[in-house]
Amino acid sequence: MSSTAPRDIAIVGGGIMGCVVALRLAQQGFAVTVVERGIPGAEASSAAAGILGPQWEMDEPGPLLDLGLRSRAMYPAFAAELRELTGMDIGYKLCGLIEIALDEEGEAALLDRQRWQAALGLKAEFLTAAQALKLEPALGPQVRAGLYLQDEGAVNPRTLARALSQAAATVGVKFVQGHYVRRVDIVGGRVSGIELDGDSIKADAVVVAAGSWSSLVEGGQVPSIVVRPARGQALSVQMRPPLFRHVLAPYRKGYLVPRDDGMAVIGTTLEMVGYRKEVTVEGLSSILQTASAVLPALGPLPITETWSNFRPYTSDLLPVLGTTSVDGLYLATGHHRYGILLAPITGQLLAQQISGTTPVVDPAPFSISRFAVSA
Ligand SMILES: Cc1cc2nc3c(=O)[nH]c(=O)nc-3n(C[C@H](O)[C@H](O)[C@H](O)COP(=O)(O)OP(=O)(O)OC[C@H]3O[C@@H](n4cnc5c(N)ncnc54)[C@H](O)[C@@H]3O)c2cc1C
Repeated sequence: MSSTAPRDIAIVGGGIMGCVVALRLAQQGFAVTVVERGIPGAEASSAAAGILGPQWEMDEPGPLLDLGLRSRAMYPAFAAELRELTGMDIGYKLCGLIEIALDEEGEAALLDRQRWQAALGLKAEFLTAAQALKLEPALGPQVRAGLYLQDEGAVNPRTLARALSQAAATVGVKFVQGHYVRRVDIVGGRVSGIELDGDSIKADAVVVAAGSWSSLVEGGQVPSIVVRPARGQALSVQMRPPLFRHVLAPYRKGYLVPRDDGMAVIGTTLEMVGYRKEVTVEGLSSILQTASAVLPALGPLPITETWSNFRPYTSDLLPVLGTTSVDGLYLATGHHRYGILLAPITGQLLAQQISGTTPVVDPAPFSISRFAVSA
């Protein structure tokens, strides 16, 4: 901690972002309070499929791919650290991801991704249908080709969210639950704390990590057109025995993620419908139709759960990280489809910025200042 660094930090939101930033700051000796209106980790962070897939997610090289690759590489140590702190296993596995082409357009896209990623030195192997079948014998006859990304992985996000809040509490983070942060208090261009319902907390620095609800925090400097909710629906199926081992991702049509307990998490939709937390006939049927084309043997298996939640979406698909025009106010939001992937690097980057040490990556591409709008 530098001599000019703040001491008391208030964090708005106890999702994976609020908790990972809190954990890193508390480990550096800051006094950290997380205010969560509900249950830590119970929103988007527990709804995620848990894919750690920067090569699959990004369509071109750039700062987001670099950030994702760096964060993916942090996962083995991150999982080991959480196990050490809490005894919990977050289900991290380097299972590999096979992107699947079900049509000609998909096949061309896979070939294109293979070319530019191989040129960057990333592992990306194009598979004919027969080669894909060797890796995953249950694939259906509609599968035309695959792209094998063997360095991609997955975690169980529900366990990760629980482990992170436990780890943060273990190293001294205080959780204030069941209270809604209404406003960030700003005096003379600098934060002085946060206002809850009928209460307030003084702080030298405030981090807004309220996911899809970030723009609703008054004074948080996140305009409502910058971070918006993008609904995703998903479901789980019980397999016995497991039908597949890799993450399977039909091009532009969601994914199937195997869990160690025989569950498959299957998603998803991307819908701009505000904060309507619903699963719909249309949403589930489109997910199931694609999943059945990839793995026809899913047909008779029981659906055990359905759910939806909101990805914090930004128009340029990059997260919003770091400093703002207000002294002492920081943002850790807008992680859209890759918040689980980006959790370790987000914790590190925010802690470095707040403590005044040199950031491990250039934070400029992720700054709120790239949006020329005011809150
Ligand atoms: C269906 C689905 C599938 C996904 N799959 C993946 C995936 O496979 N891989 C991946 O990397 N990412 C995935 N994501 C994205 C990932 O889940 C998110 O990017 C990530 O969880 C965002 O974390 P967060 O902490 O910012 O948000 P959240 O987990 O939503 O946490 C925000 C918290 O802030 C609290 N809060 C909000 N406003 C206030 C307030 N005013 N006062 C107090 N508390 C407040 C909320 O209650 C909430 O707990 C998926 C998302 C969805 C919806």
